[in-house]
Amino acid sequence: MKIDRVIKKFQENHPDEDPSIIAIAYDFANEAHQGQLRKSGEPYIQHPLHTAYILAEIKADLATVVAGLLHDVPEDTDRTLEDVKILFGPEIATLVEGVTKLGKIKYRGIERYRENLKKMFLAMASDLRVIFIKFCDRLNNLRTLENLPPEKQKRIAQETLEIYAPIAGLLGIGRLKWQMEDICFKVLFPDKYHELEYKYEVEKKIERNRFFYNLKSILTPKLEESGLKYNIEVRFKHLYSIYRKMQEKDKQFDEIYDVFALRLIVPTIDDCYKALGIIHTIWKPKPNRFKDYIAVPKPNGYRSLHTTIFGPEGKTTEFQIRTQEMHEESIYGLSAHWYYKHQRGQATYKAPTWVDEIIEIQKEITNTNEFVKKIKLDIFRDRIFVFSPKGDVFELPEGATPVDFAYAVHSNIGNKATGVIVNDRLGRLDQELKNGDFVDIIIEKKRPHPNRDWLKFVKTKRAKDRIKQFAKKSTLDNIKRFIPGINK
Ligand code: MN
Repeated sequence: MKIDRVIKKFQENHPDEDPSIIAIAYDFANEAHQGQLRKSGEPYIQHPLHTAYILAEIKADLATVVAGLLHDVPEDTDRTLEDVKILFGPEIATLVEGVTKLGKIKYRGIERYRENLKKMFLAMASDLRVIFIKFCDRLNNLRTLENLPPEKQKRIAQETLEIYAPIAGLLGIGRLKWQMEDICFKVLFPDKYHELEYKYEVEKKIERNRFFYNLKSILTPKLEESGLKYNIEVRFKHLYSIYRKMQEKDKQFDEIYDVFALRLIVPTIDDCYKALGIIHTIWKPKPNRFKDYIAVPKPNGYRSLHTTIFGPEGKTTEFQIRTQEMHEESIYGLSAHWYYKHQRGQATYKAPTWVDEIIEIQKEITNTNEFVKKIKLDIFRDRIFVFSPKGDVFELPEGATPVDFAYAVHSNIGNKATGVIVNDRLGRLDQELKNGDFVDIIIEKKRPHPNRDWLKFVKTKRAKDRIKQFAKKSTLDNIKRFIPGINK
């Protein structure tokens, strides 16, 4: 990455601003990091350069891009925050300081996890731009993850899925969220990732292309006829969200019908509704699937019209209709939202209302545990990650027990489980597992079948099914035993 590319990207979105301070910041950071190398062997400056580039991509303002270049200077070099302040002024220095404070976030068990979350929310409350820098910093670190030892890769991926990705979603930065999630998915569950990737990229590609070709060939003449200006593209769900959907609904890949959708981008809001009318006159809409997020935006600011129609070959397909501005906001989140506001001369860095709500909760609840519990209920998805003794990661619903874990590993481990060691201590099979637990199931090889009573506490469908299967079989065996003739 070269600084010229960062400047060019910034100028695409801000043609009237003088970008010379970006070049100055680069010289300063480059000199400060002189001689330092990344784990990959690259000069260290490549990392802040990429961070600044991703920021420019999401339409961040000048101060944020500059702070992105400088974000590791006070922490990792001889240059201090004071130096940054003298040279670049208080606004940029405050952003750099915010990122430096967050820099200490590391996953170290559940207590530290809560501390980290709290830190993130406090940083958000002071200036959301700090979070954008931190996200872009994290994304670049994820992209270069393969240079780290496997254990560390997994820990960083887990922490990203738990802390960063959900917050990126809340801020509406779809693009960062998807990228983070897919990288982490690949690191944490490599087999599942590759399996899905193959199905998605190879098996389904031809079928998908043909279907869209058909759909478009029906739709485009009607759009042309109406005189509407439009841009049509296919939107693919990213792999991690397909995986999650398969897990949540306990479905196979082939049963997930909305892995792709058609996206229609039109000039104005009026055109959005016009386009919707055209689509609904060609194909019947599926009842209860129409959503007007333009009239009523999602809490993270997302706007679009959504409708699912019965398309060619009887296949249901989702359409998303929006303007270019809405489209960019859905990819770049608040960053783009602010950008458009500034373009119209409405200077603002206002945070969405849920950030205000978090600040209010923070004022009321000073106990970190309770604070995190409260926001986790509303904001974070209810999943936990636990480790096998070998360090493999398993994703389970909150409240899952060692028996659920055992069945997630293998049916035989579940069936023969007699005890458990959680974090090096003897535990109970019915205890609730916590995020980050290391779980080692004790099995008895000769154990004939699982315990029916486990049904009272297991949380996953997989565990329930397996236990019931055995229960049924053993009832049958008993009947056979007591009524010897029944078998014949
Ligand atoms: Mn960094």
